[in-house]
Amino acid sequence: MDYSSVKGTHDVYGKDAVALDYVASVMKAVAELYGFHEMNTPVLEYTDVFARGTGEGSDIVRKEMYTFLDKGNRSVTMRPEFTAGIVRSVVSNKLYATEDLPLKYYYSGPAFRYERPQLGRYRQFNQFGVEELGLDSARADAEVILLAMQGFYMLGFKKLSLKINTLGDDDSRRRYKEALKAYFSEHIDEMCADCHERLNLNPLRILDCKVEGDQEIAKGAPKMKDYLSDASDKRFYETLSILNDFEIEYEIDDNLVRGLDYYSEVVFEIHAISEEGHDYGAICGGGHYGGLVKALGGPEMPGVGFAIGIERVASLMKDNHLLDSLETGIDLYVMPVGEEMLDEAFQLTMGARQLGYKTETPLSPMKFGAMFKKAERRGAKFALIVGEEEVERGVAQLKNLLTKEQFEISLDKYEEELDKAFASIEGDDGHHHHHNEENEEEGE
Ligand code: AMP
Repeated sequence: MDYSSVKGTHDVYGKDAVALDYVASVMKAVAELYGFHEMNTPVLEYTDVFARGTGEGSDIVRKEMYTFLDKGNRSVTMRPEFTAGIVRSVVSNKLYATEDLPLKYYYSGPAFRYERPQLGRYRQFNQFGVEELGLDSARADAEVILLAMQGFYMLGFKKLSLKINTLGDDDSRRRYKEALKAYFSEHIDEMCADCHERLNLNPLRILDCKVEGDQEIAKGAPKMKDYLSDASDKRFYETLSILNDFEIEYEIDDNLVRGLDYYSEVVFEIHAISEEGHDYGAICGGGHYGGLVKALGGPEMPGVGFAIGIERVASLMKDNHLLDSLETGIDLYVMPVGEEMLDEAFQLTMGARQLGYKTETPLSPMKFGAMFKKAERRGAKFALIVGEEEVERGVAQLKNLLTKEQFEISLDKYEEELDKAFASIEGDDGHHHHHNEENEEEGE
């Protein structure tokens, strides 16, 4: 019997769990600033949603999906990405039938791809993303890019590389694909097996083949910009000029095509390199999609969105020491001196928790020295020492574990005393509690 975890999956705990949660929560907060709201779709969808939505020509659908028959013999798939499911939801709930366009959703949760596990690439991983549907505008395209960039800045990233390209409208893309097909047909004998398939399914995809020899050949391929319609060209430059207005630097990358079949017009990726020079690949990818809503049975309705790989962002932040100040410690450790004080300590612990302080106490007898070591390991800011003789006098000792200062507090005024102590160190660590003296005074 093998009880290891499934290949490519990870148990997440400790600081890593805090980090993943932090990345998602900052991104959510930024998305809210831009007027997006959360949508949760199921992990399981009928396989057709991805086959039609993500696209038969994508690597994801061709070979990376967790697809199986359920007990009712229906083919279902664990989502490899969110966009197709969100659009399916917009169609099945008729969310498009509103005067309130564009629809603006964000999502966060696990996705599943049967890929070869390697650095920054897992079989179960988490994505955060947004979709903005129902407005055919360069401004909408620019808005989601600005959102992603602001999110990364708020997480503390300083250097990001935004790569951007346009795939044009359907007409431009059709003409371009023909040109690519003609070009690559000449070289296909020297190219990898995947590219042989891509040549017929979607020659655009050859452009981001990772095989070195194929990349060399791709360098000589026709360029999208020579096949763009005037409208697509104008639209692309509108998006770029909005980015210029906000001083967002970008690099136009002719070979950026993105992995999913449904993209049209602007596509982009954001890359970040760690200080140590680690390249985790793209941390964000997205673009505009013209035909997806219709392909899944809805009306003609465009959309634009991006997805962020949360694990990749978190590990980059770790490498760049952007997570060092993340709070995982507790505020208060309550120390019963002797077994008789366990109940009293538990009462005081509950009182502090109800005030909003992260508080722990031993639930069974513990030696004094061991309690101090534990308080230190848990990163407690204060220790409250609860001794029998003092409790009889209605007091306890509060010790600032940083400065080692110790003072007596009155248990009659426990709440005020705690607030006063924590207020005195606020600002030291940038931590704020919902409950503090200043607010109370103002409220009176
Ligand atoms: P995609 O949906 O392929 O455009 O991916 C969007 C982002 O999700 C990528 O930029 C990555 O950061 C992340 N991502 C994609 N696949 C994986 C994976 N197998 N493991 C971890 N992160 C991934």
